[in-house]
Amino acid sequence: MKSIPELVASHKAFFLSQGTKDVSYRLLLLKALKQEIIKKEQDIFDALYNDFRKSEFETYISEFGLVISELNLAIKKLKTWSRPKRVRASILTFPSKDYIYKVPYGSVLVIAPWNYPFLLAMNPLIMAIAAGNTVVLKPSELTENTSKVLTKIIKNVFPEDVCTSIEGGIPLATALLAQKWDYIFFTGSTKVGKIVAEAAAKHLTPVTLELGGKSPCIIDDTIDVKLIARRLVWGKLLNGGQTCIAPDFVIVKSSIKANLVNAIKKEITRRYSEDIFQSGDFPRIINSKNLKRLVSLIENESIIFGGEIDEKTNYLSPTLVDSPKLDSKIMTEEIFGPILPILAYEAEKDIAKILNGIERPLAFYVFSKNKSFYSKIITTYNFGGGVINDPLIHFGNSKLPFGGIGASGMGNYHGIHGFDTFSHKKAIMKRGTWLDLPLRYAPYKGKINLLKTIFKYFG
Ligand code: NAD
Repeated sequence: MKSIPELVASHKAFFLSQGTKDVSYRLLLLKALKQEIIKKEQDIFDALYNDFRKSEFETYISEFGLVISELNLAIKKLKTWSRPKRVRASILTFPSKDYIYKVPYGSVLVIAPWNYPFLLAMNPLIMAIAAGNTVVLKPSELTENTSKVLTKIIKNVFPEDVCTSIEGGIPLATALLAQKWDYIFFTGSTKVGKIVAEAAAKHLTPVTLELGGKSPCIIDDTIDVKLIARRLVWGKLLNGGQTCIAPDFVIVKSSIKANLVNAIKKEITRRYSEDIFQSGDFPRIINSKNLKRLVSLIENESIIFGGEIDEKTNYLSPTLVDSPKLDSKIMTEEIFGPILPILAYEAEKDIAKILNGIERPLAFYVFSKNKSFYSKIITTYNFGGGVINDPLIHFGNSKLPFGGIGASGMGNYHGIHGFDTFSHKKAIMKRGTWLDLPLRYAPYKGKINLLKTIFKYFG
């Protein structure tokens, strides 16, 4: 087995050999990857179930299906995306033909988290390969079964110096980050995002940071609470609440708070039965460390639903917390589990008081039929992306860029935005040789007025 510096050197050598510049080679790889993933569908389902009891349905809707869609899109559009685009020339540089070439950066490092371990490893990898880069993937050490399947798939599809998956934890990630990459794509916590940014800065390596945060959900009194409860419970409890864009907490108009709480309680029971522990549809917390962290968030809070724990199986039932203090642990830390704090507001200034106290979130949700209310809310606050009247599903349209702002990240991907993320836009101008205007050449005496006129009319 190659050492890390040897592996990186072999990736750089392959890139320099121009092997990945050939679009038909990239297409071949993407098609082979799709075949292999389809072949391993059941292994992927089993791995996710064994890692944190994620059901086949949730794995399909939130991981497998999205990966296949991204592959289909890349395979369909790759030739168009990778063609040089001609842009309108400027009169100031006449005569010329001007182009943008989207070219690969070179060798890319992708570091993935555990919570959607298949999706969040594969989707950046697909677009990095589509754009013509070589890729080293480090999947999460916390989802061992999925990481093993990822490594197997990649080994079966790619030559080692084009794409490799290496499994390991923090020491491996640290060793990888010490290398000089041409691009780093990291998905994970804000804390580790800072470590990645610092390592990248040493080599001036560009980075995309897909991080987390507290994504709020604002609800006014203009929508049927049953519909809100149905959508909210789905978005909060998918993946056991371990979703980077899950609604972290709710701020609801005080006049409907009691009705909403009742509707949410009924909805949870309707979806997962009275005995949620036995439901095959509700995943577990990833490990005991995270379970303990979640328990510490609710210890001194007013629990109005749930709060049941089974330490042996890392189970925490869907839990509602009533009006926590703004400086409490639960309101200052990303929750990342099946706990939903519910706060109330009377006037818009109450919303501002809460939201101005938190870092810029990755996602933002507002439930309202009142256009002036939701328009004001979505333009007032800074956040990565959001949805009016539903949680999570902006993730599902690959035409929308997905990424954070400030503490929730930098850069974005999905669909062509992913292809663009992994491509450098090289500007190329082809100058005509049939005309060579003398204006720019010295001596400049007597030319400034003509220059000013040209800039005035054509600049
Ligand atoms: P994490 O930051 O602990 O780990 C992510 C990756 O970084 C893992 O591969 C891990 O091995 C590696 N890592 C951990 N410590 C490291 C260190 N000191 N140096 C170098 N690498 C290190 O995150 P996680 O627990 O796997 O995932 C949960 C977090 O990720 C949450 O904050 C969540 O919001 C965020 N997240 C964001 C997105 C997004 O798309 N923006 C998606 C999923 C998860």
